[in-house]
Amino acid sequence: MSEATANIGVVGLAVMGSNLARNLASREGNTVAVFNRSRAKTDDLVAEHPEAGFVPSFSYEEFAASLQKPRTAIIMVKAGAGTDAVIDELVRVFEPGDIIVDGGNALFTDTIRREKAVRETGINFVGMGVSGGEEGALHGPSLMPGGSDESWVTLGPILRTIAAVAEGEPCVTHIGHDGAGHFVKMVHNGIEYADMQLIAEAYDLIRRGTGKSPAEIADVFAEWNHGELESYLIEITAEVLRQVDAETGKPLVDVIVDQAGAKGTGAWTVQTALDLGVPVSGIAEATFARSLSSHPEQREVSGSLPGPLESLTVDDADAFIEDVRLALFASKIVAYSQGFDEIRAGAAQYGWDIDLGAVSKIWRAGCIIRAQFLNRIADAYAQTPDLAVLLTAPYFVEALERAQGSWRRIVATAATGGIPSPAFSSSLAYYDGLRAERLPAALIQGQRDFFGAHTYKRIDRPGTFHTLWSADR
Ligand code: NAP
Repeated sequence: MSEATANIGVVGLAVMGSNLARNLASREGNTVAVFNRSRAKTDDLVAEHPEAGFVPSFSYEEFAASLQKPRTAIIMVKAGAGTDAVIDELVRVFEPGDIIVDGGNALFTDTIRREKAVRETGINFVGMGVSGGEEGALHGPSLMPGGSDESWVTLGPILRTIAAVAEGEPCVTHIGHDGAGHFVKMVHNGIEYADMQLIAEAYDLIRRGTGKSPAEIADVFAEWNHGELESYLIEITAEVLRQVDAETGKPLVDVIVDQAGAKGTGAWTVQTALDLGVPVSGIAEATFARSLSSHPEQREVSGSLPGPLESLTVDDADAFIEDVRLALFASKIVAYSQGFDEIRAGAAQYGWDIDLGAVSKIWRAGCIIRAQFLNRIADAYAQTPDLAVLLTAPYFVEALERAQGSWRRIVATAATGGIPSPAFSSSLAYYDGLRAERLPAALIQGQRDFFGAHTYKRIDRPGTFHTLWSADR
């Protein structure tokens, strides 16, 4: 049996787990125990990184014995059945007071279920969102741990040392109990879907509207990255657009098949929002846009449907590009606002005390949606912690005031030219829905009462009403 020399362990040594283990090992005071179901990954990691001083194990018993108490282990395995299998093994060899952390991309309802089951054994279970991909895991991810306050006492100091740092603050906070961390990570990914779709629509409009090449559009994005749109996704978009295919000499973006993949977290965000009754139309459109792109059999109809030639006539290219920039900024405000509204609604539904300002701060570095803009969200919640709709904060209202002429022009131009811009246009429709003093929902209530006697409320007096719509009903 190994001596209990490690203060933290990692189970699952594929790309995420091995990088997280190396990150942990590089911090003063940490000794990291490592275990993987199949032995080769453990051997390779230990051989390739002697500087890390890993404590390898080849059975769960050995792994538990190598950890100081309370034992703390982070699971980084394939989400789903793999996670359940590892939890079962760790519960078998751990003791009450120990801490099991799942850093995989688990569905938050699975985390709620697992936390409840593990808690009954006296062991703590923490579902933790990890963002930033493999680079983030190695150099500093954005971490979203849920779980009990007791686990946070032990975990907090360790996680603070490995998280990314934004303006001197580590990108980790105790999000809330049980599944709160994975819930917030899920919405983070949903916002990521919306942000990526909006950027893709902006690129498409500029290309069709101005005839600029991908490399020239890369320059536009690089310039945008110095302003209010400054973000990791804008930065990498410039790099992707600049890339030339070595084989054909064409822009790589023109060689890549136009079917977007998805691993499901966008769909989870939308499904959960539907259950909570929160409109996240920007995220939903972005998710559906990926679905539409990835059905070649449906897209075979492309030549047979009537409509404009997907081209635009733009007189002033610079003015058009500025309109696109502002439309992107306004739509992005909507996407983030909807995402934060979903977190608020989730917190209310599941009884989590989530500090929305703290969430925006831990996304400022280490994660895919890191952006300068998140400081503005933090400011908004600092001023009004119970802000019902994020985009009503003064900074965003001012930005939307400034952007909306451009936004409307771009959505109208795209519609007239037959250019699909689902996220731009649905964001604007949502915004106008919020602005509307009166919505046609009154008519829907009338229809519902007509066919189903569902009743309605009146504007001029309290109570519930039903109309006898016609004499024969
Ligand atoms: P992965 O490909 O998702 O999973 C491979 C790892 O899971 C291997 O170590 C594998 O062990 C282990 N595993 C699978 N089934 C198992 C089982 N039944 N029992 C024990 N171990 C099992 O690895 P990854 O890409 O490094 O991701 C790890 C986790 O991090 C996932 O949940 C992923 O969703 C999440 N995540 C990934 C990213 C990213 O950018 N990749 C970002 C954030 C979060 P063997 O070697 O024995 O097969």
